[in-house]
Amino acid sequence: MRLPDPALVVLVGASGSGKSTWAAGRYLPHEVVSSDALRAVVGSGRYDLDASADAFAVLEQVIDARLGRRLATVVDTLGMDAARRQRWRDLARDAGLPAVAVVLAADDATCRRRNAERDVPVPAKALAGQLDRMRTVPGELAAEGWEVVVVPGDEAPPATEPSRPAQPAPNPPADDRRTSTGVEVVLQVSRFPWGEEPARWLAEVAGAADALGFAGVALMDHLVQIPQVGRAWEPIPEPYVTLGLLAGLDTSLRLGTLVTPLTLRPAGVVAKAVATLDALSGGRAFVGVGAGWWEREHAGFGVPFPPAKDRLDRLEDGIEVMRALWAPGTKAWSGSRASLPETTCYPRPAGPVPVVVGGAGERRTLRIAARLGDACNVRPEDVAAKTAVLRAHCADVGRDPDEVAVTVLDVSVVGSDRADVARRVERLRGRTAATAYAARLHAGTAIGQRERYAALADLGVSTVFLSLPDLAGADDLGRVAALLA
Ligand code: GDP
Ligand code: MG
Repeated sequence: MRLPDPALVVLVGASGSGKSTWAAGRYLPHEVVSSDALRAVVGSGRYDLDASADAFAVLEQVIDARLGRRLATVVDTLGMDAARRQRWRDLARDAGLPAVAVVLAADDATCRRRNAERDVPVPAKALAGQLDRMRTVPGELAAEGWEVVVVPGDEAPPATEPSRPAQPAPNPPADDRRTSTGVEVVLQVSRFPWGEEPARWLAEVAGAADALGFAGVALMDHLVQIPQVGRAWEPIPEPYVTLGLLAGLDTSLRLGTLVTPLTLRPAGVVAKAVATLDALSGGRAFVGVGAGWWEREHAGFGVPFPPAKDRLDRLEDGIEVMRALWAPGTKAWSGSRASLPETTCYPRPAGPVPVVVGGAGERRTLRIAARLGDACNVRPEDVAAKTAVLRAHCADVGRDPDEVAVTVLDVSVVGSDRADVARRVERLRGRTAATAYAARLHAGTAIGQRERYAALADLGVSTVFLSLPDLAGADDLGRVAALLA
């Protein structure tokens, strides 16, 4: 069973019931606040009962500080003091964290045996008192308003998630690549720490992505690295050249941009590049398109950056132009605003090229997606709201809503295990508080992310474009394997 995280987790059980063992297998050492450990800090050792009052004073202070920062906090005491439990629950509620009670319900004989095996056993009478108390505590918990009360069974889940090494598998076709969650996952590569060998770095990342079961690779289309991702002097390669290199590798990956601003090149020229990519890759191309938003890259490259309304017109007209140039024949074409004297574009794409419309502007962008897109890309937080708007536009423009997929760009921290997640958050967060950063970037293990993706699939999402803010290279991709199972 997966517990909410971060949360206040209060362990409840007699000595020897297995509280500390349960916590050690699931949480990082500094997340567990233990009265025994604090007795050793302020007294002569873990069992220095004379130091109890001081140890509990420190314990309360640590709990206060951690919950105040919304950090996962596991309280490892007997957990039998109802007044303390209430105080901790109140602190958790003030911090907006769920409160979880974990009842270690080992039988009396087990606790006695384990106690007897200890270097310094709890006096028999004290243990008897605890065991007696445990007959009523679970009933008290049920009435106390915990978000979750867990009683781990003997068949409790393994202490750590099994590590799944990257399985080099023969390339299944790209259209079979839905994960067990119901979504397909496309790796969006936005940073390129490729050292001295750019082409090799790219080939290795693509090879690893293909072997792991990603459905494709998507590249950003920017002239200067954007501040959300990196520094302006870090490399951000021209995507269509780069996708051409990827198309030449032996993979089944679908290849495209997320997203090409239709301000940077005339839409017809984009259509030409995408058609060529589709021909060279045997029909694996897709294209994300958007209205463009970053003025600086336009100015720096001498590209006009018109006002928002004109950019949205360009997006709308541009998709029509692209579709006209991909259609059979060379006849003259005229759309709702734009027209072309001929539509001579060879090579043609090998098959239909999915057009993903990026951007969540409800009035125009989603309407453009409803009218002309094969998919509409939004943020994971916005799926329900934007899907509703998209569907309303579909009804309005007479489009079957099932023809417009909903995709998300998911910028997430994914770790191989809990400690790895915490390390990555600590390295990436800058001056943002760890919990705020972790929440914003959905930080979690690959198995935890899988549950998020299943929830997105339930909302109707077909494809997740996963962007890892700290992807170092091919060797660093294996940590997401469990997400792709
Ligand atoms: P606490 O006093 O409730 O914190 O209990 P501990 O976690 O210190 O466990 C007491 C002893 O029982 C230790 O020697 C543990 O190794 C052992 N123990 C704890 N949980 C389990 C369990 O699930 N199975 C077995 N076989 N031993 C356990
Ligand atoms: Mg203990």
